[in-house]
Amino acid sequence: MSQPKILLLGPPGAGKGTQSSNLVDAFGVEHVTTGDALRSNKDMDISDLGLEYETPGEYMDRGELVPDEVVNAIVEQALTSADGFVLDGYPRNLDQAEELESMTDLDVIVSLSVSEAELVDRLTGRRVCEECGENYHVEFDQPAEEGVCDECGSELIQREDDQEDAVRNRLDVFAQNTEPVIEYYADRDAFVEIDGEQSLDAVWADLEAAVEDTV
Ligand code: ADP
Ligand code: ADP
Ligand code: ZN
Repeated sequence: MSQPKILLLGPPGAGKGTQSSNLVDAFGVEHVTTGDALRSNKDMDISDLGLEYETPGEYMDRGELVPDEVVNAIVEQALTSADGFVLDGYPRNLDQAEELESMTDLDVIVSLSVSEAELVDRLTGRRVCEECGENYHVEFDQPAEEGVCDECGSELIQREDDQEDAVRNRLDVFAQNTEPVIEYYADRDAFVEIDGEQSLDAVWADLEAAVEDTV
């Protein structure tokens, strides 16, 4: 049996990164995440594209979307080398959703729904490992030792765009650009909506069951 091709949709802070780690462990799929890929290329010179800013980081720190041509190329390259995958953070607008159609098919499309007030609490309390990308929360998902990654022992940091102003902007960008993407997929057979506001374990139980149904 080939590995599942999973798309995880949801607003910033819904738990996509956290649950992607569980999917990697349980199903052996590859985690394809545009957020991490862009963070490791924050200072790449994209000035020759003639866009508003000269690096991906300048868009990201403001909570704005990095232009499609940069992001599409990253995803296309990552997907061609993956058998099964969990795709997290893409597509974030309808043009990217159309682009994805030409790259791969999908076995299961999961939308994690969470209310805005909860998203703000989650994002402002999020701490991340810059080394391996694991996500934690100062209250809801603490590492064994404060400030240290359980997975790799590196230091945890707060992302620049998890400060309150950038968080508000990202939630607006989500409502404008990415909510239509969820509607775009909503009537497919492969589409499943999961209540992302449950506990970490309850969300995982629902997600694992949804993926198991497809393999
Ligand atoms: P996303 O990748 O969708 O932006 P993350 O997985 O990074 O979201 O989760 C955002 C923050 O919320 C992290 O600090 C994470 O530890 C925390 N979190 C994730 N899922 C839950 C949950 N079900 N309950 C409480 N906190 C959660
Ligand atoms: P979150 O954890 O909030 O869901 P990500 O780590 O997925 O955030 O993304 C961080 C930032 O990277 C976004 O605010 C955006 O600037 C950029 N980014 C990530 N994915 C995309 C994408 N598919 N299209 C455009 N920009 C993206
Ligand atoms: Zn780590």
